[in-house]
Amino acid sequence: MTPPNPQEPAEVRKKTPSDFIFGKVIGEGSYSTVYLAQDVQTKKEFAIKVLKKKHIIREKKTESVMREKEVLRILGNSCPYFVNLYSTFQDYDSLYFVLTYAKNGELLKHINLHNKFNFECTQYYTAELVLALEYLHSKHIVHRDLKPENILFDHNFHIIITDFGSANIEKTDNQTNNGETDLITALENTRRRRSFVGTAQFVSPEMLQESESSAASDLWALGCIVYQMTCGHMPFVGGNEYFIFQKIIKLEYEFPDGFDKRAQDLVENLLVLEPNRRLGASDVVPYTSIREHQMFEGINWNDLGPPPLLSDSPYLIKSSGSNNFNSNQEPGLDRDIVTKLILKDMLPGAAPTKQAERKISRAGRKITDLTQEEIEKRLLAQQANPYNVFVEGNLILKQGLIDKRKGLFPRRRMFLLTFGPHLYYVDPSNMNFKGEIPWSSDMRTETKNFKIFFVHTPNRKYYLEDPEGYALEWCKAIDQVKEHYFPSEQALKD
Ligand code: ATP
Repeated sequence: MTPPNPQEPAEVRKKTPSDFIFGKVIGEGSYSTVYLAQDVQTKKEFAIKVLKKKHIIREKKTESVMREKEVLRILGNSCPYFVNLYSTFQDYDSLYFVLTYAKNGELLKHINLHNKFNFECTQYYTAELVLALEYLHSKHIVHRDLKPENILFDHNFHIIITDFGSANIEKTDNQTNNGETDLITALENTRRRRSFVGTAQFVSPEMLQESESSAASDLWALGCIVYQMTCGHMPFVGGNEYFIFQKIIKLEYEFPDGFDKRAQDLVENLLVLEPNRRLGASDVVPYTSIREHQMFEGINWNDLGPPPLLSDSPYLIKSSGSNNFNSNQEPGLDRDIVTKLILKDMLPGAAPTKQAERKISRAGRKITDLTQEEIEKRLLAQQANPYNVFVEGNLILKQGLIDKRKGLFPRRRMFLLTFGPHLYYVDPSNMNFKGEIPWSSDMRTETKNFKIFFVHTPNRKYYLEDPEGYALEWCKAIDQVKEHYFPSEQALKD
């Protein structure tokens, strides 16, 4: 079997990994690692997605990689709401996609940091998404995996949609395709008959039942995203994919109290089982009927203006300055550099930094210091938390996204520290329960720096990384819960 060999458009000189200095790993997909990188000559920053050829072939993902490249080629740089593919190149082991660097990360992260968006932010980002979908669908492309993890924010907090690995390029009657697109379509049709694509919580009923998708499938996903921005959690949740799918095909979801009525009306008009009856789906000029919805009162569609501030958060957005790159680092991405970049934060030595110390909560109260009344109140409120289904009725004391490393590679998990005591973790991308760190009196935490911490159990050392830099908060919280259930001798004497 030969490695994928996408036909590259002619470039003046083909770039190579040595044209870039590779910085930190900014993301990890199932089949890729994404690095922040700097062009040696222009000093411009990019996100470079590196795909291991062997891995792609083994996992039969060649078609998806080719499709992503083809879609990005069609989209070009004429719409600012999509990631731009600047160049592609390959070496013996890997394929490289040089992409716009979305400095402010995933929409999902920002929804989680703020718990939910206020109306102004929801309105603005929904409007950007509508403009993006108008453009995408005018090019006969259906994304098919639109979700808050695939919507990134650029340096000015405008959206950048990414991940076209599941996209479908619809063929129009008068469209002439090159050979590559034909191949993709053929493969696509085979695949479509086999299984649904997308992510459980955002997948449309028609993709589940008939494995058919159209532009209206993205409108369904838009409804799910508006719902999540408005209240902080997804409309369809369940312990596993089967339950989620059941809810989707029965349109079984509810609006929590206080859900904005304008957003609710829009969601109800997008989450419609019959694809053609979704708002916008039958528009002669897409998506005039969505633009005219009451949700967008006051919006100037010709110029949305700057985004509203996502400012009511105590979290700092870490800016990417020139210190992202080590001045001594050689260009390129050989084995040594990869290992160095991945292990950089994990090497022994550095004590917690001053910055880390500052991040320790100032509040003196322990998270376990709760009255019965407070516990009951919080348990009631917790019912609206989509992760409530995983905690067996225990009160969630702290939750947050943590990168859990096994081997060299991290997996992002929602960690749930509860009374019980328990420390559960769930895959947030498909809401699958993954496991829990076992508690015992021998459990011990260790902070490496403001991001990295370890939980030692008798049988295993868990390598954890809080991308927001609150590792010390986590260790402190876990220690307090441990102290609550396994008081130290000193505490017993006191
Ligand atoms: P999966 O294959 O598991 O669905 P994915 O397709 O989202 O994952 P990638 O596209 O490789 O995987 O991206 C992995 C992560 O890297 C993203 O979730 C995002 O956080 C980050 N990322 C991807 N592209 C960019 C970019 N252009 N700028 C900044 N971060 C990015």
